[in-house]
Formats: sequence, C-alpha cells, structure tokens
Amino acid sequence: MAHAIAVSFPESSSIPIRDILPWAALVGVLAVILVYFAGVEQGALSLLSNQYVHEFVHEARHLAGFPCH
Ligand SMILES: [Zn+2]
Repeated sequence: MAHAIAVSFPESSSIPIRDILPWAALVGVLAVILVYFAGVEQGALSLLSNQYVHEFVHEARHLAGFPCH
C-alpha cells in the first residue's frame, strides 16, 4: 500500500548573476590551475624545477588520461 508523503520545499530564491560571477570566475581559475598541474606540468612546460608536483599528482594524471611516460 502506497503512502503519500507531503514534503514541503522552501520557495526558491534566485541569486543574481552578478553575485555568482566572481565565484564562478574563481572556481574556473582554480580548475585551470588544477588541470595544469595535474596534466601539463612536466618537462619543458614545468613551472617548478623539481618533480615534487608531478609525483604528487601522478596518479591523477594517469586517471585523467594525460600522457605521462
Ligand atoms: Zn606516469
């Protein structure tokens, strides 16, 4: 026997786009930095002279399908 459950949701409030835009830009920049360090930061494109960043994100690099070795 099915029972009907009344669920009340609060009224949705719209968030103005100009309030979201700076946070969306920040998340976009952080995502690009993350993808760079996980996928491209190696060899000639390396920003850091050591291999610590590459080794730290090495498994994520393979998981994401970036060429490595
Ligand atoms: Zn590798």
